[in-house]
Amino acid sequence: MTEPKITQLQPLPDDWQRALAVVAHPDDLEYGCSAAVAAWTDAGREVAYVLATRGEAGIDTLDPATCGPLREREQRAAAAVVGVGTVEFLDHRDGVIEYGSALRRDIAAAIRRHRPELVVTLNHRDTWGGVAWNTPDHVAVGRATLDAAADAGNRWIFPELAEQGLQPWNGVRWVAVAGSGSPTHAVDARPGLDRAVRSLLEHRTYIEALTDQDPKTYVHDFLTETTTATGERFGGTPAVAFELFAR
Ligand SMILES: [Zn+2]
Repeated sequence: MTEPKITQLQPLPDDWQRALAVVAHPDDLEYGCSAAVAAWTDAGREVAYVLATRGEAGIDTLDPATCGPLREREQRAAAAVVGVGTVEFLDHRDGVIEYGSALRRDIAAAIRRHRPELVVTLNHRDTWGGVAWNTPDHVAVGRATLDAAADAGNRWIFPELAEQGLQPWNGVRWVAVAGSGSPTHAVDARPGLDRAVRSLLEHRTYIEALTDQDPKTYVHDFLTETTTATGERFGGTPAVAFELFAR
């Protein structure tokens, strides 16, 4: 019997200047994506982050009123490590983000503000590819982001946005979904890996609540293992994987 052929991932297109990453929670981008973000900002590209929530329901021992501002600070610090100075919050409620026109409108507005060619989001599917169930917040934000990439270009879907001065933006060429169980493309993780580790470590309160392991060891091992595993499908180069949707 012959070995099943492992499909190789293609390099993510790099003929673009502006990216906007839209995710549900603080840490969603740092759990895998930020090595790619560091490489992009190194190359002089602009990357901005938009988060649907402040992650205020993410730590069992902290009430949301305390947790939200703390996680916002950690997120801004994590973004700064990989060269991202713009972090915006849409103030949907953590844990119960509803997929629907309100979420699509908020994300379409963000796309019009930032006018990206590449939009990045997190896995919108029910599972992570195996039997591990995804969270409803990720599914809602991922789907709404894929939809909003088109909504942003249509003058008549959310006419109130143009009235606020946000003109239609038809320039989104791709939506890259991180954490997908069916990736198609990848970005070399090596140049950004050290900063990705430091970036995820900025979510220290969250990580200390999550694991008894030393945070540095936990973060380093997690990001090394996931990028190395992706590299098996990227010519042996440690990488960050994306499922790419073209528009
Ligand atoms: Zn999340």
